Amino acid sequence: MMIAPVREPTRTEEQTVQIPLVDLKAQYASIQAEIDAAVAAVISDTAFVGGRYVAAFEQAFAGFCEAPHAVGCGNGTDALELALEALGVGPGHEVILPSHTFFASAEAVLRVGATPVFADVEEGGFLIDTEAIPALVSERTRAIMPVHLYGHLCDMDPILEIARDHDLAVVEDSAQAHGARYRGRPAGTMGDVGCFSFYPGKNLGAYGDAGAIVTGDAELAARLSRLRNHGRSGKYEHHEVGVNSRLDGLQASILAAKLVHLHDWNRRRRAAAARYDRLLEGVEGARALTGRPETESVYHLYVVRVPHRDEVLELLRADGIGAGIHYPVPCHLQPAILKTGSRLSLPRTEALAAEILSLPLYPEITPEQIDRVTGSLDRALERTRSR
Ligand SMILES: *Cc1c(COP(=O)(O)O)cnc(C)c1O
Repeated sequence: MMIAPVREPTRTEEQTVQIPLVDLKAQYASIQAEIDAAVAAVISDTAFVGGRYVAAFEQAFAGFCEAPHAVGCGNGTDALELALEALGVGPGHEVILPSHTFFASAEAVLRVGATPVFADVEEGGFLIDTEAIPALVSERTRAIMPVHLYGHLCDMDPILEIARDHDLAVVEDSAQAHGARYRGRPAGTMGDVGCFSFYPGKNLGAYGDAGAIVTGDAELAARLSRLRNHGRSGKYEHHEVGVNSRLDGLQASILAAKLVHLHDWNRRRRAAAARYDRLLEGVEGARALTGRPETESVYHLYVVRVPHRDEVLELLRADGIGAGIHYPVPCHLQPAILKTGSRLSLPRTEALAAEILSLPLYPEITPEQIDRVTGSLDRALERTRSR
């Protein structure tokens, strides 16, 4: 059987997409007055960088995460990089993380000069296999970076235990998990630091790039505040070399306006996911990727495993369904990693990457839209089965 290579939708296909993967316009329409007022306030105050809008959002986001401190920064990738740097991770060190994640997780490790050590996913799952971690710990290991992918939380208790036993830091990549909980504990607050992205399509999205780091450690928070702002302690006093990765006032003000809706949006995502779960029970061949029972997920994405994935994706797109793949190429097989000489094989991760399919999901998606997506998926699977 021939499988067509994965390709981006063409222009004509994009024009005929009736149900997009993510619908940011629907969300803006529902809160337009609040957003417009939030933007106007910053402009009339000319509080563009730093200032009270940033401080107010940092405080509100810390509250949302139930974390003592939140430090805003330029984006989620910088959040990870700054966190690793503040924890003293650098050249000669290793960080254990999953390969099945967005490339930025690994990139942050490489940017601080450390080496990413990739772990496979759990048997039958899609999050880091905690049982694989102990064998990957070496004398050089300084941190573990669990990634809470698709809004589902990693099995944190064993990770925290391994970290304690080996004196390792834990950096939670929470870029897809704002508000998710593991045994009642919020994403980002179980390790030493939690790193968040506010890229527009994330559960809490800015109108541009933005990110934040949460921590319970006051000293670490102070160091992060300096590092993201030229290592500055006074206006013209620089005790260390930092970067310019500040959260800007417009983004902070927009994020604060949106944050008050986040619990409700996450609830709607869960309700939409529950409808998919129910409908997919009747769809032969599709298996939904769900979270662990002890967690409350926030469904950043709704992902299924299907056979003949690339063909199914083509059929969905032809039918006006904006499906996607997160992520088609695991980190350990990315050219940038292969260039370092790595020849790692992670069988579960590789099998997973060939079968995953993300279906449209956003807080505003309607039951009728979900029914349409599932119907289309059912037909696509039936067609590929008969070949
Ligand atoms: C989005 C994302 C990042 C990077 O965040 P940016 O704000 O885009 O830099 C890192 N890790 C994961 C898992 C992500 O989904």
